[in-house]
Amino acid sequence: MTRFDSYTVVDWSAGLRAPARPSPNAIWIGSVQDGVEQEPVYLRTRIEAEAWLSAFIEREEQAGRRALIGFDFPFGYPQGFVRAVTGSDDPLVFWDWLGERIEDDAEGRNNRFDVAETLNAMFTGPGPFWGKPNEALWPEIPYRKAGIAFDRVPERRQADLRAQASSSCFQLFFNPTVGSQALMGLPMLSRLRRRAGVKVWPFERIEDAQTVFIEIWPGLIEGAVKDDGDPIRDRAQVRLLSRALAHVGEGELRAMLDDVPDGVRQEGWILGAGHEAHLMTAARLPDLMPPPLRNDCFALPAGVDWTPVDDALAMLRDRMRPVVKPQSVPLFEAAGRVLATDLIALRSNPSHPNTAVDGYGFGASDIGDGPQILPLVQGRAAAGAPFVGELPPGHAVRVLTGADLPQGVDTVVLDEDVSVGEGRIAFHGPLKRGANTRKAGEDVPAGDVALSAGRILTPADLALAAAVGHGILPVFERLRVAILSTGDEIAEPGTPAGTGQIYDANRPMLLSLCRDFGFDTVDMGCARDDREIVRRALERAATQADVILTSGGASAGDEDHLSALLRESGAMQEWRIALKPGRPLALGMWDGTPVFGLPGNPVAALVCTLIFARPAMWALAGAGWREPQGFDVPAGFEKRKKPGRREYLRARIRNGRAEVFKSEGSGRISGLSWAEGLVELPDGEAHVSPGVPVRYIPFGSFF
Ligand code: AMP
Ligand code: MG
Repeated sequence: MTRFDSYTVVDWSAGLRAPARPSPNAIWIGSVQDGVEQEPVYLRTRIEAEAWLSAFIEREEQAGRRALIGFDFPFGYPQGFVRAVTGSDDPLVFWDWLGERIEDDAEGRNNRFDVAETLNAMFTGPGPFWGKPNEALWPEIPYRKAGIAFDRVPERRQADLRAQASSSCFQLFFNPTVGSQALMGLPMLSRLRRRAGVKVWPFERIEDAQTVFIEIWPGLIEGAVKDDGDPIRDRAQVRLLSRALAHVGEGELRAMLDDVPDGVRQEGWILGAGHEAHLMTAARLPDLMPPPLRNDCFALPAGVDWTPVDDALAMLRDRMRPVVKPQSVPLFEAAGRVLATDLIALRSNPSHPNTAVDGYGFGASDIGDGPQILPLVQGRAAAGAPFVGELPPGHAVRVLTGADLPQGVDTVVLDEDVSVGEGRIAFHGPLKRGANTRKAGEDVPAGDVALSAGRILTPADLALAAAVGHGILPVFERLRVAILSTGDEIAEPGTPAGTGQIYDANRPMLLSLCRDFGFDTVDMGCARDDREIVRRALERAATQADVILTSGGASAGDEDHLSALLRESGAMQEWRIALKPGRPLALGMWDGTPVFGLPGNPVAALVCTLIFARPAMWALAGAGWREPQGFDVPAGFEKRKKPGRREYLRARIRNGRAEVFKSEGSGRISGLSWAEGLVELPDGEAHVSPGVPVRYIPFGSFF
């Protein structure tokens, strides 16, 4: 289990008591709890910070929540160090060793240089610890690194090398330093980990741990920190790192936790080393989620009897907003997902000026009107194999499609327009400067928005995102949709059905429809017409999904428990929408989760899902409001309709005309299956005769 309820990042400090006013180089703690980013906490001393962490861990544990807590100093030392000091390879033994020796007070005064002297005395020759504020003090600690052999223990751990960390755990002074932070941090961790639920990665098994300590390093997301603009860098680091951990996606977090190379576990590891692109994308995700849906979000204006379809849609459009969190996913897995932020081109497309054809390149200023003869230079430019050097004036060079234009080339003449002789080519001028070439960035310049937030990513979008330099994309988590049928008469498909029973047609239809949309579905089965059973089903669905679709039981009859329950919870609205086929929709909130109570009749259930639930679900999923694209086609049928209700007919196109199913009977499931789309007839009175244009919406447009 890799999910955590909270992701916390601590920027530790070895300094003296920090000023009362939030300042850099003090202790900062950033945290994302249940997906909600907390204001970073500023702590002036290590003693205060330890008390804060201890209380935090206790609170999370008592609430049964799993906490991941990262610290920005090394948990271990290069191979051999811990054994030389303690006689054991277990880094946690060294934590306790330090814990017994390091002293710290409320002003932040501490004895770390004395302890480092003791440690240095255990190694022959100068070091390994070095760096101090005063050259005259602590004779056992070299002021500078020069002269330290690092023969018995290497200067850096494998993790430091992989993460390209600039500092070593043996460096105690001069920026950037982590050595002092570790000496002053490990004793605190040694105390905090005495609590049974706490485990330390990567030294201990963390599977069942309630609280997991990890080592992290803000350098992994330096680009995002730099762009953030927070005047206090440490605050930006903890805010963005906790955001990155919270949003990096469960699979990727698992991969990062598992990615500890063989044989170096005892040195400790920097979580995310080698996965920087993932963390960086996650760190750049938006920090602010819109507030949750309000309990009255389905309220209707008073006094309205039958609501026109467009008014109902406008209300939904106003009130639905994303309820899913952003996360980062590999580009290759991002098709069908909703883009969570604008995607900026990291690189121009094309990245360099190149040739659009096979031919010969030259400088346009070298040629004029009429016949041209140019000497050819040796060599050529091909895609991926550029021409080396600069083309001399008055010459031409062989170029192949996609090749970067060599220096001195701005124009290309097409193979077909050229005669080639020994070392020369001939063709007719003039040619426009830039002919047959593509300019850098002519498709998308670097820095432009390549794809906008809210897009449902298509295969072509992935091509574009890849071309402009992305490998990881910020998307919203998939919307989770729970689907529940209700009714005593409903039997499970494929099982024997008694008299008076009908098979559940809605559930398989709605489940597969929602899966086609790319949502995660939760099959809640079928609930009998029993208030307690329906209540329990709603309770379960609300914990497992972001939105609940139910069918049946949505009217006001004795056995319509769904609407009764929603009414009881105070958050139910009966939407009487002027549309056919349809019955009143029961819209409501159950434990903060929106419920769409659809009619039981499969034809009405599908139409109401496509027309109402679909756009609402996309808005909840972060894709904004999406109108299905219909178009006008000549009718292939005759129909008169009365004013008052908008009508949707099961339809398909044959021979350029919209034909409709032979029966409008709302029980005709075969007509749904026959149809390939819907014909939409306006709210008012209408007389459709063959050849008159009608609006046709293919099922494929309802995505
Ligand atoms: P109700 O909305 O519960 O009054 O149901 C309207 C009609 O739809 C009734 O004839 C129900 O039997 C039928 N119905 C309800 N749920 C389903 C379902 N899951 N599959 C097929 N028919 C259903
Ligand atoms: Mg029923």
